[in-house]
Amino acid sequence: MKYTSQRGTKDILPSETPVWQRIEASCRRIFGLYNYAEIRTPVFEQTELFSRSIGTDTDIVSKEMYTFEDRGGRSLTLRPEETAPVVRACLQHNLISPENITKLWYMGPMFRYERPQAGRYRQFHQAGVEAFGSTDPMLDVEVIDMAVQLFREIGLTDLEVDINSVGCKKCRPEFIKKLTKYFTDKTSDLCDDCKKRLVKNPLRVLDCKIQGCQSIIKAAPAPVDSLCRECEEHFENVVACMDEQKIKYKINNRLVRGLDYYTGTTFEVVSDKLGAQNAVCGGGRYDDLVKELGGKPVPAVGFAIGLERLVGIIGSDVQSPKSDVVDVYLIAIGEKAKNIAFDLASGIRKAGFSADMDFHGKKLKSQLKLADRIGARFVLILGEDELNKGKIVFRDMSEGKQEEIKCDAATIVEVLEKNK
Ligand SMILES: [Zn+2]
Ligand SMILES: [Zn+2]
Repeated sequence: MKYTSQRGTKDILPSETPVWQRIEASCRRIFGLYNYAEIRTPVFEQTELFSRSIGTDTDIVSKEMYTFEDRGGRSLTLRPEETAPVVRACLQHNLISPENITKLWYMGPMFRYERPQAGRYRQFHQAGVEAFGSTDPMLDVEVIDMAVQLFREIGLTDLEVDINSVGCKKCRPEFIKKLTKYFTDKTSDLCDDCKKRLVKNPLRVLDCKIQGCQSIIKAAPAPVDSLCRECEEHFENVVACMDEQKIKYKINNRLVRGLDYYTGTTFEVVSDKLGAQNAVCGGGRYDDLVKELGGKPVPAVGFAIGLERLVGIIGSDVQSPKSDVVDVYLIAIGEKAKNIAFDLASGIRKAGFSADMDFHGKKLKSQLKLADRIGARFVLILGEDELNKGKIVFRDMSEGKQEEIKCDAATIVEVLEKNK
């Protein structure tokens, strides 16, 4: 093979696209029910947008970004996530303000230079939502509820929401101080990366997946113990509202998420089909990001869902929908019949039925076989005899019945309507 897809990328083949389409349709439907509107941004942005918002010491920015210089000498990056681009677009087009609620959703490919492994790709897909303009804890719960409803519709059961608060810029320094003190005593047992993290951004030590660090992280101080009065109250209200809405959740003190812009509530949705560490959705509040990127302070909350993961879970359960089957297959014998069939196909499609025909000049028998194999519901046969009579054979493949009808598009469409 001369050319193959790049490491960490994947072709989504026709046999797989029905699953994707189903998930995408569910996203559109559920996000619409909560009055979120779609936004689409370019796949690349100025590099600084991401380093500034996600944080220079995070794994994403320090190791995983596809950053390149374009021919004009600009540093550009393929988007590793979509929150920063959405905020950038909102500021550029004046879509958000502290007085108004703006609800947006997005869907599309993201890019991270990660070590490829099962279910993890360098080009992967996310769908997500962002709600701007309010600090109301109920908005946090609305966002979480939307994720839960989406998974339910897709068929994921036994969902659990892991929830935490990482504090705000007032109380987080206090937590980081405690954390630094705790880890400093154990520096010699931390991995080399974590030793660096401890100096630059101690919070990121909590993301480390290495076994030796994990056991130290387990006993580390939790952010909830350092929350200021405001953050504490907000978190209590979120939890109370979750109780009222009967959304199953677990408070998870270790949940800090691998991005710097989160403030207050963070959450992940976990399904028992996924196993403990495999969240299918992650999100939280980011009340300071809009200001950080140059706007007025506008609080916000959102989440992102990894679509490859969802496809992996439900993929085998979804059958190719019936609509993929072609309605009419046209069989023409001879050049003159072929021209007429080509014309008829066009007329049939205009009436809203799908139609296809042979382009190999095959014999009647092999064309019939082909029509059967692709699952055509009806077959139209135009041979020399029919041509001379101005007729065409209309065959219902499921019932094996056939009749001769007038050879024009209007008559054919009439019969198709009758047999629908
Ligand atoms: Zn706080
Ligand atoms: Zn480590």
